Amino acid sequence: MLLTLSTTHAPATDLGYLLHKHPDKFQTFNLSFGQAHVFYPEVGAERTTASLLLDVDPVAMVRGKTREQSFLLGQYVNDRPYVASSFLSVAIAQVYGSALGGRCKEREELVQTPLPLTARIELLPVRGGGAELVRRLFEPLGYQVETVRHPLDEQFPEWGESPYFTVTLTNTTTLAELLAHLYVLIPVFDNGKHYFVGDDELEKLLEKGAGWLAHHPEKDQITRRYLGHRPNLYREALARLLEEATPDEGEEDFTGLGPESTLERTVSLNEQRHGTVLAALRASGARSVLDLGCGEGKLLRELLAERQFEKIVGMDVSVRSLEIASRRLRLERLPDRQAERISLIHGSLTYRDQRLANFDAAAVVEVIEHLDPPRLTAFERVLFEFARPGIVVLTTPNRDYNIKWETLPAGNFRHPDHRFEWTRAEFEAWATRIATQHGYTVGFLPVGPVDEVVGSPTQMGVFERE
Ligand code: SAH
Repeated sequence: MLLTLSTTHAPATDLGYLLHKHPDKFQTFNLSFGQAHVFYPEVGAERTTASLLLDVDPVAMVRGKTREQSFLLGQYVNDRPYVASSFLSVAIAQVYGSALGGRCKEREELVQTPLPLTARIELLPVRGGGAELVRRLFEPLGYQVETVRHPLDEQFPEWGESPYFTVTLTNTTTLAELLAHLYVLIPVFDNGKHYFVGDDELEKLLEKGAGWLAHHPEKDQITRRYLGHRPNLYREALARLLEEATPDEGEEDFTGLGPESTLERTVSLNEQRHGTVLAALRASGARSVLDLGCGEGKLLRELLAERQFEKIVGMDVSVRSLEIASRRLRLERLPDRQAERISLIHGSLTYRDQRLANFDAAAVVEVIEHLDPPRLTAFERVLFEFARPGIVVLTTPNRDYNIKWETLPAGNFRHPDHRFEWTRAEFEAWATRIATQHGYTVGFLPVGPVDEVVGSPTQMGVFERE
């Protein structure tokens, strides 16, 4: 069983620092179920590849187990030594533990940097779901997925296909993230064959899944399979993932929570923003419109009041916000004709989502600054490459303006959950790049009172598909 990791980051030999394994050495590690060997078949400034070869010893594997755990011959004669299974996850945690934990003293900045990485798994047993399942689990995380399915026996093609695949995954991401994805997902494909299900598996799943699993569209299936179909563990995992998926509590009520609300109340910026966005949407002639990161649904209410919009969909990652939106919009009590026009969906903007396709317009109001920079790249593709609405109206704070707010300490963001706030130059550079890349034109408009020097508190980009 072989896992290779390659990078084309310059210099690619940095991979050695990140993995804490010297590229010139062949190293062997003793694990409870066999041995793991690490070596580099390819070392160069342009491309470096590290291999993790697992040598599972079927005898060591059953040592210490009670007899009734499985039928005897099956304990010795099975595919475990040859395929990527939960053993590989254990090996990743033990042999690449520092890299998985995102630790690297010599190259601290590298740990945080998304790098061009390729992982190749030889062989991955996929039980139930085939290549489609491999794609469904890895693509939402931004991977380009290649699969080669192997026949059961090359000598006897009539026996048909085996459940074994060679899988190549390519992505620009941090090494720690890549290893966490492999750690969690490899046993998921193996499904019922997970040898390591104990109560601490739940903790491991949540720890390694932190920051991505809660938003993954297949989180139910991943959790169920990872936990070996144990319903109690599965239910607890889902409940805890749901908590993680709704961290933005401060966003749910703009009145009286956090510094952004106090600041913005003085200029009722929120209302001005929605007014300006609405005007842009109206002018575009759009009939179907998405409100992405709709929060409590204030813009949705205004959209609903305009006959022009025949189909309105609000999406948010926070279930609690959606519940509040649903209550405020009185969705339960709307007359049928109104209710048919609007729906709320739970989802994350950082995952490709079929439900977002074929809309005339999308509003993304004060959302991007809540995304971690690596997630922002995923968002760009989700919206501009896959959903591709005719027009996108997007707003974000203008950092140049922050000095006008005396109550905001210098260097602080307007809201504790903001991951960044851009100057006008930064926003315009980003928006222009995205537009050019995806075949849109973009124009910029200020929102709120305009100061001659620092501009307006909010900046808005209007993207139109060419
Ligand atoms: N657009 C609303 C809310 C802005 S607050 C308004 O103008 O009032 C930012 C919103 O983005 C929050 O509701 C938050 O839950 C949501 N959000 C953050 N990350 C998200 C993601 N990855 N996908 C979808 N929504 C997200």
